[in-house]
Amino acid sequence: MPEETLNPFLIAQKQVKGAVDELGLPESVYEILKQPLRVLEVAIPVVMDSGKVKVFVGYRSQHNDAIGPAKGGLRFAPGVNVDEVRALSMWMTFKCATLGLPFGGGKGGVICDPKRLSSRELEALSRGYIQAVSQIVGPEKDIPAPDVYTNPQIMAWMVDEFSRIRERNSFGLMTGKPLIIGGSAGRGTATGRGCVIVATEAARKLGIDIKKATVVVQGFGNAGSVAAQLISEMGATVVACNDSTAGVYNPKGLDVKAVIAHKGKTGSVKGFPGTTPVTNEELMQLECDILIPAALENQITEKVASGVKAKIISEAANGPTTPEADAILDKKGVLVLPDVLASAGGVTVSYFEWVQNLMNYYWSEKEVNEKLGDMMTRAFEAVYKMHLDKKVSMRRAAFMVAVARVAEAMKVRGWLD
Ligand code: GLU
Repeated sequence: MPEETLNPFLIAQKQVKGAVDELGLPESVYEILKQPLRVLEVAIPVVMDSGKVKVFVGYRSQHNDAIGPAKGGLRFAPGVNVDEVRALSMWMTFKCATLGLPFGGGKGGVICDPKRLSSRELEALSRGYIQAVSQIVGPEKDIPAPDVYTNPQIMAWMVDEFSRIRERNSFGLMTGKPLIIGGSAGRGTATGRGCVIVATEAARKLGIDIKKATVVVQGFGNAGSVAAQLISEMGATVVACNDSTAGVYNPKGLDVKAVIAHKGKTGSVKGFPGTTPVTNEELMQLECDILIPAALENQITEKVASGVKAKIISEAANGPTTPEADAILDKKGVLVLPDVLASAGGVTVSYFEWVQNLMNYYWSEKEVNEKLGDMMTRAFEAVYKMHLDKKVSMRRAAFMVAVARVAEAMKVRGWLD
């Protein structure tokens, strides 16, 4: 058996190639889309609390901007590397296009372990990063946002630094900001909410009553914990969840609010009362109706996929399923709601945030959530229709919807032969 593809950039290329071929588009579409239009690598010197300088390496990748300025998060994590950032920027192009947002795709990252940085060091790194990429970002060029281990405070430091460089307040530079400086109501919960909206739509199609559904959540950060809470509020039973240190399981169900409080107090879900510990692999193979991977790439591998019992997978994370695992899940009849659809709630409300910044007029959380619900449902229906019409997986269908839109923009702009 050939070795499983784990390089996210090669995986993203495969997904795009599949959609381009299935749509019968010219080769030049793939030639343009198979890599980012621009990748910038920067070195960021930071004076650490020890008084010594440490140099951090960071990236910003802009995959495609045919439909609009590049858009996508910025992650601070030890595992960041150029292929990961390239792939993530590519997925952003197709995520925005799946939702019909007027954005292209971008992504950034800094190789660091933010858990080991003091608040002052983190601020210096954040300011240093935006200084280093300031030539290529901006409200009309490329708009970063939070991603793994970045948060509204980091966005605020970056907006402040960029505003100094440009000598004017430039709130439209970043999304996911604190409310007081132009953040949007509902942005913090948007990724989890979007994932639950499409999972609920899928459950309806399969005749699964969400109130009787059992759910497993892998990863308990911003996306996972919110998804767990919202789906349990709808009446579903969350039977297991985990984070990077531990997993907890109770077939009778978890009190999600209490798990969130426990993690807030202890730093992990570990040892939550009334549960048995489960490993990451065991967790993803538990008996349930809906599995929500909400952590990192390459979690559902070939090995894991063969034991998956869920009927629906709703990907809140970027790239959690390998192509080999996808093929197995497809054969087993598992309905996989791909990341470019199921994790798009965050960037959709980022779009609302950017629009609100441009017009300096702000919507209520109710309005934001309603608009998010409309856009997620519309995108789900378009992808589901493609899935049925062309008899392809939901992932292939989403890429087909998205690639067709990007190709049309490139064509009318005169980029194609
Ligand atoms: N980091 C999120 C994502 O991967 C949000 C991006 C954004 O809001 O621009 O979709």
